[in-house]
Formats: sequence, C-alpha cells, structure tokens
Amino acid sequence: MSLVRLLYVSHLAKGCGPDELGKILEVSRRNNRKNGVTGALCYSARGFLQCLEGPAAAVNQLYRTIARDDRHLDVTLLDYADIQTRAFGDWSMAYVREDEIDRKILKRIRGAESFDPFDMAAGEAMDLLKEVVRERKEFLARQQAASED
Ligand code: FAD
Repeated sequence: MSLVRLLYVSHLAKGCGPDELGKILEVSRRNNRKNGVTGALCYSARGFLQCLEGPAAAVNQLYRTIARDDRHLDVTLLDYADIQTRAFGDWSMAYVREDEIDRKILKRIRGAESFDPFDMAAGEAMDLLKEVVRERKEFLARQQAASED
C-alpha cells in the first residue's frame, strides 16, 4: 500500500471558535483511526496548518472533504509526497495551538517568534509540526508520570 503525506494551510472562517475546533478534532480522530490516517493540526488566529499521512486513497478523499469544509477558507496545498514512514504514526490527529508553541522553537526554525501558516515553506512547516508534536508528546508523558506518583 503506498503511503503519502499531504501538507496544507488555510484561513479560519468567521465564527470558527473553540466549540467548532472541539468538534473538528473529535470527528477527525474518530474518522482517521478508522481510515488509517495520522497527522497533526496546528491552529492559530491566522489559520490552520495540517499534515495528513496515510494510504493515498484515504488521504486524497479526506483532502477533498476538508477543502470543501466551510469552517475554513483559502485551502492551499504546501506539499504532497510519497513517504516510506509516517512522521505522526502515534497520532490520529495531534493538535497544537499557536499559543502553546515554545517561542524558542519558532525562533530556531523560522528565525522569528511569530507563526503565520501562509508564510512558511513546506520544509519549514513540516519541521515545525514535528518539533511541536514531539514537545507535546514529552509534556503528556511528564503529566502521566506525575499523575502516577
Ligand atoms: P459528519 O457526520 O458529517 O459531521 C460530524 C460533526 O461535524 C457534526 O456534528 C456536524 O454538525 C459537524 N460538521 C461537519 N461539517 C460541518 C461544517 N461544515 N460546519 C459546521 N459543522 C460541521 N475530518 C476528518 O475526518 N479528518 C481530519 O483530519 C480532518 N481535519 C480537518 C481539519 C480542518 C481544519 C477542518 C476545518 C476540518 C477537518 N475535518 C477532518 C472535518 C471534515 O472537513 C469533515 O467535516 C468530516 O470529515 C466529516 O466527517 P463525517 O462525515 O464523519 O462527519
């Protein structure tokens, strides 16, 4: 089965607030688990950056669905590639908000502390997602360990 990775950015539609985001994540995780899709979604007031990875047919179909979703607009493809291994294999959809991103990571990857999904090259966007999701995973592991103490 050939695996692909797709990376896109979009602007938030008016009225797409925390309630909508909660719904998007819940539905995404449920569907993606079923369809073998993994990935990461980064949200900021300026818009979304999302990576989808999985079987080509599932990712292509999902991208068509997402592009039609009126909770965001200006859906713009950054990258589409064949892959051998997944970057977010542990996540039905990892989620990071811009305000949770360590500014040091932004500075290192972007050379600036701001995050504008529409002002990033594909490589930079992918590096950022990998880094913030790795941080998120470590944070969750620390929380889990603390709760077991
Ligand atoms: P449905 O049964 O059609 O809907 C599930 C819930 O979502 C319902 O409560 C419904 O009211 C609500 N809903 C659906 N569409 C809208 C809409 N346009 N406006 C308001 N509420 C709506 N889906 C995935 O499966 N995987 C993803 O990784 C994924 N990522 C997304 C990222 C972004 C930035 C956005 C905006 C959407 C994303 N979606 C994703 C959602 C996708 O666009 C479809 O809404 C979803 O896949 C439909 O799934 P369904 O047919 O199972 O759900």
